[in-house]
Amino acid sequence: MIIILLGPPGAGKGTQAQRLEREHGLKQLSTGDMLRSAAKSGTDVGLRAKEVMDRGELVSDDIVVQIIAEALTRDECVNGYILDGFPRTVAQAGALDAMLEQRGTKLNAVVEIVVPEDVLVERISGRFACAKCGATYHDKFHLPKKDCVCDECGGTEFVRRDDDRPDAVRQRLKVYKAQTEPLLPYYRERGILIRIDGNRPMDEVAAEIDRQLGIENLKPPKCDDGDAAGTAG
Ligand code: ADP
Ligand code: ADP
Ligand code: ZN
Repeated sequence: MIIILLGPPGAGKGTQAQRLEREHGLKQLSTGDMLRSAAKSGTDVGLRAKEVMDRGELVSDDIVVQIIAEALTRDECVNGYILDGFPRTVAQAGALDAMLEQRGTKLNAVVEIVVPEDVLVERISGRFACAKCGATYHDKFHLPKKDCVCDECGGTEFVRRDDDRPDAVRQRLKVYKAQTEPLLPYYRERGILIRIDGNRPMDEVAAEIDRQLGIENLKPPKCDDGDAAGTAG
């Protein structure tokens, strides 16, 4: 199954993609995460991308298309994947169609998560993530179960994103409207667009996504070796 998660910054794409991976074994492919990791490792491309990201602008189509093209060849994508934050422009959507056709696969659904702008700003301003595994939390809406310990990996270090500042957030919302919203009619005309009311608690959003995708019973593929805790290695 191949799914796109579409929605403005703060809509809950990353949160739902992480959950879909955990609960259903669909691999999360986040271009934002991949670009941040390239920036952190200090590659040329990564450092140039970081400058653009910190301003709240989009990284060039060529770069993100190349990143995704590489990701799609990975073994971990064989059970299906979720494109989180890609495509973000009409040109990227065209490039994705070409890539999928070349691989003999196609999109199953595009999930649009709809959230009012004032709520987006509140979500982004309280967002933080585990520095080790990237799990996303919120100061008010989603704290780790144990104080300062990541639910997923036990990590104790957390980070906030450089582009979650108010001025960059305003710019990202503007860019979403101008460059990404035009994708909605593109997918609606193909009959694969699903709209989800994202202005609800996370578990309700999750249940609605699963119901509309018809994957309530889709379980992740079993590991060969029982249920050894996945956090050890
Ligand atoms: P958010 O979670 O707020 O939607 P992301 O983590 O997906 O943000 O993306 C952060 C930044 O990374 C974007 O503002 C943009 O600069 C860059 N980026 C991520 N995905 C893309 C893409 N598909 N095309 C261009 N730039 C991208
Ligand atoms: P995106 O990837 O679309 O930018 P995130 O998944 O990172 O959005 O969510 C933005 C922030 O809002 C995070 O801090 C997250 O914990 C929180 N959040 C996500 N979904 C919800 C929800 N349904 N209700 C309240 N807070 C949410
Ligand atoms: Zn973690």
